Amino acid sequence: MEFKLNIEAPKSWTHVVREVPHVTADQRRRALQATHYNEFAFPAGMLYIDCLSDSGTTSMTDTQWAAMFLADESYGRNKGYYVLLDAFRDLWERGDDQVRLINYMKEGVDRDDVEKMMNDVYLKDYEGGFINGGQFQLSRPNTFIVPQGRCAETLLFDVLKPLFARRWPGKVFTIPSNAHFDTTEGNIKQMGNVPRNLFHKEILFEVPESGHYDVNPFKGNMDIDKLNQLLDAVGVENVPLIYTTVTNNSVCGQAVSMQNMREVSAIAHKHGIPYVMDGARWAENCYFIKMNEPGYADKSIAEIAKEMFSLFDVVSASLKKNGHANMGGLLAFRDKGLFWQKFSEFNEDGSVKTDIGHLLKVRQISAYGNDSYGGMSGHDIMALCQGLYEEARFDYQDERVKQCQYLADGLTRNGVPIVQPAGGHGIYVDVDRFFDYKRNHESFAGQALSLEMVHRYGIRCSELGDFSMEYDLKTPEQQKEVCNVVRLAINRSQFSKQHMDYIIAALTQLYKDRDTIPNLKITFGHNLPMRHFHAWLEPYAPTEEEMADKSNYSYWKTWTPDQF
Ligand SMILES: *Cc1c(COP(=O)(O)O)cnc(C)c1O
Repeated sequence: MEFKLNIEAPKSWTHVVREVPHVTADQRRRALQATHYNEFAFPAGMLYIDCLSDSGTTSMTDTQWAAMFLADESYGRNKGYYVLLDAFRDLWERGDDQVRLINYMKEGVDRDDVEKMMNDVYLKDYEGGFINGGQFQLSRPNTFIVPQGRCAETLLFDVLKPLFARRWPGKVFTIPSNAHFDTTEGNIKQMGNVPRNLFHKEILFEVPESGHYDVNPFKGNMDIDKLNQLLDAVGVENVPLIYTTVTNNSVCGQAVSMQNMREVSAIAHKHGIPYVMDGARWAENCYFIKMNEPGYADKSIAEIAKEMFSLFDVVSASLKKNGHANMGGLLAFRDKGLFWQKFSEFNEDGSVKTDIGHLLKVRQISAYGNDSYGGMSGHDIMALCQGLYEEARFDYQDERVKQCQYLADGLTRNGVPIVQPAGGHGIYVDVDRFFDYKRNHESFAGQALSLEMVHRYGIRCSELGDFSMEYDLKTPEQQKEVCNVVRLAINRSQFSKQHMDYIIAALTQLYKDRDTIPNLKITFGHNLPMRHFHAWLEPYAPTEEEMADKSNYSYWKTWTPDQF
């Protein structure tokens, strides 16, 4: 017999504690001034809660810490290399039929049974998927470990840039996505090509009467009509890759449905265009599919992942999110698949002249070291490997997603305009509505909101709107694709309900005091690529006209730079 309560039983408890200092608002203001109001430069040690990013910020599990002891730091073919590659096969390609080679290390098979290690691990051949193994990883390399997600992007675009220039001189290509992450967009632009973000902006900011959705509406989907229109407008021959980001980070961490990816995959493949997954949050997205898309309720996260990955030709992923790890990234493409066919060069008799995998490997070695570790330490590789299996646990994802939804619902109840439902990794403030549509795009009010959260309450958020998405530098067409939001990313396995309640109270109070938030101007680095990482800012009081319709502007009348 089960004794039921209307509250969920806990799924974890705290094992190690990090204590934080007491810091005053005046001290934080001083630090803001000294760091030119660039929130990336603000000292983390002066914050109560850091919601800047969920990238690599996870608290690891006891089993991950334990796995680190199993690692070795060998330069060539450390054990972690084999078990990590096989973890990708397990979780992305084998569904419920997993091998879990990491257990060989836990059980001492590597010490006791060399023949078994040779047959099952060291010399085993794999081909045909994203993760070649044994002799096939040597003859047709297709899996590249890197330190983090943006390294996978740079690796890809550094190799494609000269290749494009040689094959199609002077041509400018368009690379559409349901929405590119800021670094992906930066990498595409630096390559001289045009990123496009084709999500459904119309539905993004809708909130139902009840305040939240019972079923996740997959607001992260690609708008298929927009994709077809774009392909018609620019011509399929000018679209070398199509991306889907799961979950859709730049579009408020919203989930993408299997149906949507299936449709985009079919369109891409009809035109011979390789389909690329930005898979930073693959497991979270699979959780959303399980909970909300018809037909998936009884499937495991790994089974859903297997179907999802089968739709793609390339995977580019930060593993600092859904790896439960502090470090890691990957670029992989399907063995002999569309990407390989399109970007390798062949002789007249069909034999390979230049394998794109070898070009990528050369670049990987130049930038990140041997392919066995790709810029990661052996210890980090083991922690990542264990973490990947843990990310695919239902209970873990369930607790995480519900924590974000708890935060979202608390804010909605208090009237703070945010995007509903919560994204997989945080909540997003609707900046235009927050400021009653009174601040213009050059005021960077979202960034100012974010800095005032640091100043007043010791909480760091991240602006992902007009400032960081470079609204003022975009064409009118691209400007329509910017969502003006501030994100509060929730670190994995780190926060309690008290943290969520503190954020709810702080953001609610700041919303009430929104007319006392200054505007910002850029004083250095306006045109630097990915300027939000390094530009300097300065707060200023809005002009008399800007203030005219505000109820509470006493703050402005006495405002001096010192007071922010
Ligand atoms: C974080 C992230 C990246 C970049 O990865 P890093 O590990 O931070 O370099 C790329 N794409 C998406 C969707 C991300 O969330």
